[in-house]
Amino acid sequence: MSASRKRKRLGQHFLVDTQVIDEILMLIRPQINQTLVEIGPGRGALTSHLIRYPAELHAIEIDPGLVQELQKLFSRDALTIHHVDALKFDYSSVKREDQRLRIVGNLPYSISTPLMLHLIKFTDIIEDTCFMVQYEVAERLTAKCGTSHYGRLTVCVTRAFEVETVFHVEPDAFSPPPEVRSSVIVMRPKPLLALDEDSERLFSELVRLAFGKRRKTLRNSLNGVIDVAMFQETGIDASLRAENLNVEDYIELAKCAVARDSGSKTKVLTHHD
Ligand code: SAM
Repeated sequence: MSASRKRKRLGQHFLVDTQVIDEILMLIRPQINQTLVEIGPGRGALTSHLIRYPAELHAIEIDPGLVQELQKLFSRDALTIHHVDALKFDYSSVKREDQRLRIVGNLPYSISTPLMLHLIKFTDIIEDTCFMVQYEVAERLTAKCGTSHYGRLTVCVTRAFEVETVFHVEPDAFSPPPEVRSSVIVMRPKPLLALDEDSERLFSELVRLAFGKRRKTLRNSLNGVIDVAMFQETGIDASLRAENLNVEDYIELAKCAVARDSGSKTKVLTHHD
């Protein structure tokens, strides 16, 4: 693969604007004894500043060439480099005692959505995250219910995190410049409403089905999974569309369907007894 194709595939737009770097550092402000994980350190635009703070620093980089460059730039004592895909990384492996992780990075745009979904599994060990993402992703993450940007990503991520867009960044802050604007966002885990395994699975499935046919009414898009009685029981209007339901509505539907399903199983068992 040519160097330019690889650069494109891995979203390698390196930060060169020192003012933007300073603003990101002001947001992160690592403190003593904290553990920081930087995703996609690249050539160290942020890393070279982060190592100056008295925090423990890990970096996750997928490109072997860049891993070699980083190894030459930074001592092992200052930085632990993980040559691995950030989407497969087990973030709990670097957590120390009762310290929650602070995760930061100028993210390659192609992985920002799957990364957010991966990080949901680790909300109980995350203190906060500070990411540079594509402007449109920030727009989707902070979209209000009922608007066109509100979608599957909004529902799944805001179930687990508060998301705040802090500032926007123009393409000329990077080399080479991307074709799109970027935004710096901060995410903080919310107390997660615990669901049993079945309800959790159904919640994800309902959100996927509803937004998969977002122009259809819920009666149609959730047909075969949610029936008239379940809409009545939860008080959710079946003539609404995916974008009209908030996170709690999807949770209510999932819990109602699972309760109905386990109720019917109980009846069958009683009958056989
Ligand atoms: N932090 C550097 C900067 O701001 O200049 C580089 C940011 S660049 C937008 C994204 C970086 O993420 C690149 O170094 C790229 O190789 C790396 N990367 C791409 N996909 C990755 C993945 N799945 N896991 C870990 N790193 C990845």
